[in-house]
Amino acid sequence: MTRFLCDAMLGKLATYLRMCGHDTAYALDRDEESADALLAWAREEERRLLTRNERLAERAPDAVLLRAHDPTDQLAELRAAGVALALPEAPVRCSTCNGRVRRVGEDERRPEGVPPADERPVWQCVDCGQFYWRGSHWADLRETLSSLGTD
Ligand SMILES: [Zn+2]
Repeated sequence: MTRFLCDAMLGKLATYLRMCGHDTAYALDRDEESADALLAWAREEERRLLTRNERLAERAPDAVLLRAHDPTDQLAELRAAGVALALPEAPVRCSTCNGRVRRVGEDERRPEGVPPADERPVWQCVDCGQFYWRGSHWADLRETLSSLGTD
């Protein structure tokens, strides 16, 4: 599966890609904005660079240059570029830090604000501890993806 690196302007898109299960690094996770640093990062980790910067895109052979400002339109551009976009059955990746998530057990303690076990399944990022469940963000992205048409 292709791994991605989103430039600093593509934070929302990075979140969407992670929700779709794609291993996606985001420039601002490392406060990295210089072209040279992003190109080196993409090369070292074999990530496909996604950028809205034309000059940057020209310097990475497999970069995808995105024209749209709106993240939904960017998803359509990515799909047109051949990137598979679909929500997995369950979350696999943390949309905050790109870490893996694990299913929280029925009898594990859940912090306040996290749905109880008898309400819905919950996942937790093994790296940053963030909790996830299939709530409105999940439903919204599912709807957005289906509005783009089928893969
Ligand atoms: Zn995380």
